[in-house]
Amino acid sequence: MEILCVPQGQFRLERYPYNKNLRAWDAADEYLLQYFATEIAPALDSSASLLLLNDSFAALATALHDYSCSFWTDSWLSIKALEQNSKLNSCANKVEVFYSTELPDQEYDVVIIKIPKTLALLEDQLAKLQPLLSENTVILAAAMAKNIHRSTLALFEKYIGATTTSLAKKKARLIFSVLDKNLPQSESPYPVTYRLEGSDYLLSDHANVFSRGKLDIGTRFMLQHIPASARYRNIIDLGCGNGVLGLVAAEKNPRAELLFIDESCMAIESARINFQQAFAASRKAEFKLNHALEGIEPDSADLILNNPPFHQQHGISDSIARQMFRQAKKVLRPGGELLVIGNRHLGYHLALKKLFTSCEVVASNKKFVILRAVK
Ligand code: SAM
Repeated sequence: MEILCVPQGQFRLERYPYNKNLRAWDAADEYLLQYFATEIAPALDSSASLLLLNDSFAALATALHDYSCSFWTDSWLSIKALEQNSKLNSCANKVEVFYSTELPDQEYDVVIIKIPKTLALLEDQLAKLQPLLSENTVILAAAMAKNIHRSTLALFEKYIGATTTSLAKKKARLIFSVLDKNLPQSESPYPVTYRLEGSDYLLSDHANVFSRGKLDIGTRFMLQHIPASARYRNIIDLGCGNGVLGLVAAEKNPRAELLFIDESCMAIESARINFQQAFAASRKAEFKLNHALEGIEPDSADLILNNPPFHQQHGISDSIARQMFRQAKKVLRPGGELLVIGNRHLGYHLALKKLFTSCEVVASNKKFVILRAVK
């Protein structure tokens, strides 16, 4: 287990899900905590309130747990990391959690933002933050320098006011922004809505949803191969994004019950809205914030649809996809099917062939392959 050493103390931190090869913090967290200790903390009293955004594995919430912290996040994995790292470090204060689809309801003394991977999420957050800020609010952001672009700073200038950056330290940089009360209040441009091609379905995507505002080309290919059968009583859309795969599966399998799963609050909320818009109360479906299929009843599904994530934070990784495949084997009933789409070069067929009784190619094109694995 790795130890984060910062002026606030030494903290044992783990990622969620556990990954022995990857640390639960980055140099931007360290820079931010050092700056906080020398430049911000001396002027704060112990009752100061802090709002933390996008604290992926709760490194900031753990190190700053002496303050009254709120944790605003789109990620279920970060909420699980918060629970786990608070326990590991015996943090006494309870951190208040707000999902990205909720609004914190108070003014804060300090707002700390880790720059998210999706610029649209940052824009949505800054637009929603604006009314909670005063000229006295300290606003501090951080990221690895390569992830801070002109467009990132332009959003701070648009929604907050004058914005500057620090020198780089271990390839990380801080961003300082001060509220300009004369800036006009701008609403978040999200969610965005579009019509699913060849259908009457309206899809609404919150800011952090995969392929927001347009159908992804891989998803489009998968939609052409969603199967229909009276055997499918329970269908899971695993890593559902806006839920379009499950929605079309529901249409093709009118008697099936659907379970939508994603680790993004915005994805789950978008999937819920899109399903209700399509079927109103006529269809039964459940929408679950979850890490992959963790805790889902074994032998409970007949068909699992999966366009798995191939990124974790800013890096490319298939470790979540592989975890999803392993768990799918447990959750499927005997004879149940896992339908997976992936870029050809990802080689998912190798992992699936090891796990399942059979694995065949359903369709392929220049970029993608669709595989069906049967339990
Ligand atoms: N199914 C949608 C589609 O085809 O348009 C979205 C597919 S996108 C490639 C992968 C999805 O997996 C994203 O919505 C992402 O939030 C979700 N995801 C990533 N990690 C996850 C995890 N650990 N558990 C559940 N969902 C996860």
